[in-house]
Amino acid sequence: MLKRILLLRGTEIIALMLLASIPLTVNNSYVLGLLTLLTIYGILLIGLDVTVGYLGQVNLAQAAFLGLGAYAAALSVTVLGFGMMGALGVSMLIGLVLGGLLAFPALRLEGPQFALATLSFSALATTVLNEWDGLTGGAQGLSLNRPDFFGHAYDAPGFYWLCLIMLALVWMAMRNLLASQWGRAFEALRDSPIATDAMGVGTFRHKVAGFALGSSLGGLAGGLYAFNFQYLQPQSFTYDLMVILLLGVVLGGRKSLWGAFFGASLIVLLPNLLSNRLLFEIISAAGLLLAVAAGSRGWMKKTTRPFQALAPVVAMGLLVVGGFMVENTENWRKAIFALMLFSVVVGLPDGIMGFAARYLTRLFRIAPSTLPSASNLDDVLPLKQSDNGVLLELKDLKRYFGGVKAVDGICMTVRKGHVHGLIGPNGSGKSTAVNVISGLYAPTAGEVLLLGIALPTGSLFKVARAGVSRTFQNLQLFGELSALDNVMLAMKGAYRVPLPLVLLGLSKAEGHRAQADALALLELVGLKDQARVHAKDLTYGSQRFLEIARALARKPELLILDEPAAGLAHPDVSVLVSIIKTIRQRGITMILIEHHMDVVSELCDVVTVIDSGQVIAQGTADEVKRDPKVIKAYLGAAADEADATPVPA
Ligand code: ADP
Ligand code: MG
Repeated sequence: MLKRILLLRGTEIIALMLLASIPLTVNNSYVLGLLTLLTIYGILLIGLDVTVGYLGQVNLAQAAFLGLGAYAAALSVTVLGFGMMGALGVSMLIGLVLGGLLAFPALRLEGPQFALATLSFSALATTVLNEWDGLTGGAQGLSLNRPDFFGHAYDAPGFYWLCLIMLALVWMAMRNLLASQWGRAFEALRDSPIATDAMGVGTFRHKVAGFALGSSLGGLAGGLYAFNFQYLQPQSFTYDLMVILLLGVVLGGRKSLWGAFFGASLIVLLPNLLSNRLLFEIISAAGLLLAVAAGSRGWMKKTTRPFQALAPVVAMGLLVVGGFMVENTENWRKAIFALMLFSVVVGLPDGIMGFAARYLTRLFRIAPSTLPSASNLDDVLPLKQSDNGVLLELKDLKRYFGGVKAVDGICMTVRKGHVHGLIGPNGSGKSTAVNVISGLYAPTAGEVLLLGIALPTGSLFKVARAGVSRTFQNLQLFGELSALDNVMLAMKGAYRVPLPLVLLGLSKAEGHRAQADALALLELVGLKDQARVHAKDLTYGSQRFLEIARALARKPELLILDEPAAGLAHPDVSVLVSIIKTIRQRGITMILIEHHMDVVSELCDVVTVIDSGQVIAQGTADEVKRDPKVIKAYLGAAADEADATPVPA
């Protein structure tokens, strides 16, 4: 156990001790200043990495949050007479609240629009800091004194240690958070926001929380920044800094605490890098070597195209040669940043730490922690007694897309414990119907009742919370997560520990339980041995089964399977049939959209046939098969189709 902790955390502990001991041996205020700045930027970039790395959004507001936090701390001290800890608390709170307020409207936007929203926010923030000179001193700047610590003035090493402790705390809290359900949700919503909502996790709330959290770290870093420099000016927090911060995250490596730290070191060293020619040449030469190493590796493994491998080498070569040729590297700093950024984006998409991590993990070869044994299935999916009452009712349900009446007045009753087949030709509105039930689309008219109560409309998340779970005709897995994590993420009722305790690392027990439960569901679909495999690396059939296991983790009242057999080979279809039988034995009601009539006959208690958005027949599989309307509209055409692999519509 201790050995494991040392193996896993040893580097972190050693790095922390090394950093803490430097002031004892090196008595140089310049070095100490750089180190203090390193810890502050470390916190700032860890915060920025939440949005840029984990949420995958271009966030241009972090420099502004640094400034707002800095001014908040300064004013708390100068105007309100707060102590240092109180002032830092205010800085974090400002980041959290303003970050949350910005995230609410902005995160409804996508990609470039989100970036623009954060850009406007920074412009607004710096303008306010500049123009509200009654409070902030405007362009004149604002001076403050570092408050005492229980009557003791912080000297430079003391303040550095304080910053280092803050960084260590932030580091631990973020590691706990990212290893928890929260971290999984952050990763999942990048892969499939739709599935994140459909699994009852809530894309939007996690985005907002992540952004607010990242911004609060920006605020905290700002507070420390204020006490470090003891003089603030609005123009320190504008576009230039923002670009450098992004450079730091991308260079260091996204989605990694070490990457953020490494990026912070680069940012802190940049001014020195530019003013010290020897250092500049050493770093550029190291960059060139790295570009050659990464390029030739990619070339040999054929993972990168020749241009992709060569371009960074040329760019870094330019830097080395250019360094000898120009008079003053500082005048060229924007061009230098551009070359560096270009090289990293093209040559090392995972950043420098991401590249190094591939070698480091091979070097240390840490065995993944052993998995718990699977829970008893009866505990995960308790057997439901079904009284054959009505579970779901569709009342004259309609959904139009412009002029297309995809669903045009469907009435349908699904009874508890049944497998209810939904069949019909391609384009007849089956997927649209279940998309309306599950909340992906709002109905144009009509009602959906679950156990007699109207289901929420137009929200996958709310419908999922109401007890409806589903799979998708076009797979919506979290490709970057392991099979186990895919199922764990959706596990209903497993996560109860509130966020503050998660940050303290007190959610491990519930994580273990969720793991054991998820394993039981993977076992049900025959994927227990592939629990650690990334979803994107599973075979197509296994991906379909994984989606079913994940949907089951919601412990649903109603499970909707939209063409689970589409694209499956014959042996896999038999596996699917036995999986669905097992699920039925547990008393879970299902709506099954399916083209293979033999599968429908074998599994379904009731079948509804739709054509052009309307119900044309309803009854047992045998009854509808003999119905002339069904033969005319569907079976005549599907008879040939059922043998071939049905084409997903
Ligand atoms: P099925 O699942 O039965 O093959 P769908 O429900 O996918 O059929 O489609 C029914 C009809 O609705 C088709 O004509 C399809 O083109 C149309 N449709 C489905 N989704 C949309 C959408 N998001 N926007 C516009 N038209 C759509
Ligand atoms: Mg469909």
